[in-house]
Amino acid sequence: MHEAVLFRQDQGTKIVCTACRRYCRLSDGQTGFCGVRINSGGRLFLANYGMILARQIDPIEKKPVLHAHPNSLIYSIGTSGCDFACRFCQNYDISQRKKPEGFHMDADSIVSEAVSYGCSGIAFTYNEPTIFAEFAHDVSDAAHRNGLFTIYVTNGYETEESVDYISRFIDYATVDFKGNADLEFYRKYMSVPFPDLIFDTIAALIERGVHVEITDLVIPIVGDSLEALSAMLDHLQKVAGNKIPISFLRFHPDYRMLDIPVTPIETLSRHYDVAHKAGFLYVYIGNVAGERRQNTYCPNCGFLLIERDMMKTRAINVQPDGICPVCSYQTDLHIT
Ligand code: SF4
Repeated sequence: MHEAVLFRQDQGTKIVCTACRRYCRLSDGQTGFCGVRINSGGRLFLANYGMILARQIDPIEKKPVLHAHPNSLIYSIGTSGCDFACRFCQNYDISQRKKPEGFHMDADSIVSEAVSYGCSGIAFTYNEPTIFAEFAHDVSDAAHRNGLFTIYVTNGYETEESVDYISRFIDYATVDFKGNADLEFYRKYMSVPFPDLIFDTIAALIERGVHVEITDLVIPIVGDSLEALSAMLDHLQKVAGNKIPISFLRFHPDYRMLDIPVTPIETLSRHYDVAHKAGFLYVYIGNVAGERRQNTYCPNCGFLLIERDMMKTRAINVQPDGICPVCSYQTDLHIT
């Protein structure tokens, strides 16, 4: 076990974990909701430090980070445990194992393996990295020493203390919403009481200089309310402006939500149109093969800047400094 950073003393040997908004208050010997942060003798320990349960080399477009380093390979890792309990989780086999399991890898061996496979970055993904933030810190230090960047794929339920901590070592963050950030949906299907707090996390990450992109998993019937969508977009625009990339992702039935069908294209199209009309400049549809709305078009003249297909970048037509070659519009794309 490895001593955590994100906690504070409470009364006696009681402590409060400050990694996520659950703020678990733990007695000696007790483990938090995520199953991997444990009070031992009045100190908080990370039981899954360095225990990898999922490891894969992915294209950066799979995270997705769409506005930086297109066509890069990303060494992606995850552990056991999660601070959410989504009934539709595609990675439930690792996220809902609420105990430390996996094979051991230290920070240096992760980074040297990433370098040997030609990866440009390390992603903390598959389960919620907030619960192993101290390990992500050590891996990121090693990554930066070796010229790699880092990506946090997160549900956005970090505390202010957590955002302060991770923004010192995270370069890119993808914040994943589900069901249009609808309060009742989060409570009923994810056991998450206060989804509105996610907007505060986004604002705090941006304020601290982290490049943030957004996804929203659109779940038919139970998580596709257009009213909730408008509220989500409104909130997002207030904290992040209209240049933040947002991808509407297709849902596939999984785990305990096998009775809900795949998201129809028409539903995703409606979401795309609503976001466009709300003024967002970079709107995408993800998880759909052959879909032209996963491309990046110049917000000014409509020129095709980056062409993609199912997590692969097919063509890059934008200048390295992000300028549109047709109308000279300055985008925020980071090509190199
Ligand atoms: S990270 Fe785990 S222990 Fe900490 S507050 Fe969240 S659920 Fe509780």
